[in-house]
Amino acid sequence: MKPADSDMGILKHGLQYPFWRHTMEYDIIIIGAGPAGLSFARSMADSGLKIVLIEKSSKKVLANPPYDGREIALTHLSHKLMNGLGMWQLIPDGQHFKIRDAKVLNGDSDYSLNFDHRDTGKDNLGFMVANNVIRKVAYQSLQGFDNVTILTEKEVLKIGTEASHGWVDLSDGNRLEAKLLVAADSRFSTTRRMMGISTSMLDFGRTCIVCTMDAELSHDDTAVEIFHYDRTLAILPLSNNQVSVVVTLKSDNSDDVLAMDKADFAADIMGRAGDQFGKLSLTSKLFAYPLVATFAKSFHKPRFAVIGDAAVGMHPVTAHGFNLGLQGADTLAKEIKRAISLGQDFATSTALQQYSTIHRRASLPIYHGTNAVVRLFTTDTPPARVARDVLLHLGNFITPAKNLIMERLTEEKATRQDM
Ligand SMILES: Cc1cc2nc3c(=O)[nH]c(=O)nc-3n(C[C@H](O)[C@H](O)[C@H](O)COP(=O)(O)OP(=O)(O)OC[C@H]3O[C@@H](n4cnc5c(N)ncnc54)[C@H](O)[C@@H]3O)c2cc1C
Repeated sequence: MKPADSDMGILKHGLQYPFWRHTMEYDIIIIGAGPAGLSFARSMADSGLKIVLIEKSSKKVLANPPYDGREIALTHLSHKLMNGLGMWQLIPDGQHFKIRDAKVLNGDSDYSLNFDHRDTGKDNLGFMVANNVIRKVAYQSLQGFDNVTILTEKEVLKIGTEASHGWVDLSDGNRLEAKLLVAADSRFSTTRRMMGISTSMLDFGRTCIVCTMDAELSHDDTAVEIFHYDRTLAILPLSNNQVSVVVTLKSDNSDDVLAMDKADFAADIMGRAGDQFGKLSLTSKLFAYPLVATFAKSFHKPRFAVIGDAAVGMHPVTAHGFNLGLQGADTLAKEIKRAISLGQDFATSTALQQYSTIHRRASLPIYHGTNAVVRLFTTDTPPARVARDVLLHLGNFITPAKNLIMERLTEEKATRQDM
């Protein structure tokens, strides 16, 4: 039998695929097996629902993601959620670290705004784990769940929803259908756009350059953020005297920095960090990330939801991107399970609306707060310099504001279910 015209798909590069479309049915299709997509799949794995993740990268990459320079600062809530999902336990010893204290400095001033773990009643303010390690353990945590399938080296090219189901067309010509589609395909999510969800985007015209360095002097498990006038420098504690270095600078200067040889780069960082770390030497290559913050106008439609960076793509200065992604994945999973326990259709019931409301409430203040910090600390006018200085000085004395920031890092409650 010859395929009908409607079965002749057009591939991305204009080629036709001359085979039958094979339709498979699932309860949930997750687009993107990044940290958010994998965590959400793991959160739903024990529900018994039939779940499929679709990912462009290969199985080899998912099983062993290459180092990408990102060392992720995690809150206590993320630590708790990863523990609950069996992910934390899979991180090998020596690959997770503690941030005990933190300090923020303005330019060359010695004065710092200090965050001391002893004010929180906890042993530390947060944790550090490399992004590729998070991806690896999230993938590993799904092994053994027969109801979860991961399709690799496949791209979602088209997406849509009907009253009874949603569907995705894959690069291999197959169509998959499910009760619910969940987009976890990055801050530049193409499926979010295809579903007509508009997004506010803030292009900072800046680039983040990240690497690891060895420090001569102990980092004392302290995260240091220094706001210079032309760039921001964060130095985050890893193992022993190893640190993660995050430089944020105007994008038109980034090529010059990326072209620096190792010694010149180290000398530049030492000049900006002062003498608190002693001699610094580069231990990884330099990785560059252009900075664009995004916030989806809506986190759901009937039979469709966005999670992770596809919902909220944060500027990394306040280190909240994945923390929010994990929190959102947890919220969505809980709302879906609640709807199922009430005998409702989880893909059209109030579950998605509830997820949207809770996650918006959790992320909007952090999103706007972070962007305001970025504006204040990257505006190089004399009033902005004064405002920064005043803020840092006042910060040490206005304890409610400081406590709020520390609470955000160390609290373990998230959604209404935890309360
Ligand atoms: C320099 C830097 C430092 C950071 N530091 C921190 C920090 O300290 N703390 C913190 O919490 N967060 C931090 N973040 C943010 C964190 O890295 C992100 O929030 C997180 O990686 C987002 O995960 P995600 O799964 O939503 O998206 P992604 O990691 O972008 O994954 C999306 C996945 O979808 C796949 N995909 C995309 N389109 C398709 C398609 N059409 N079909 C199939 N697959 C598709 C991609 O291949 C990819 O695997 C930082 C980010 C940067 C850039």
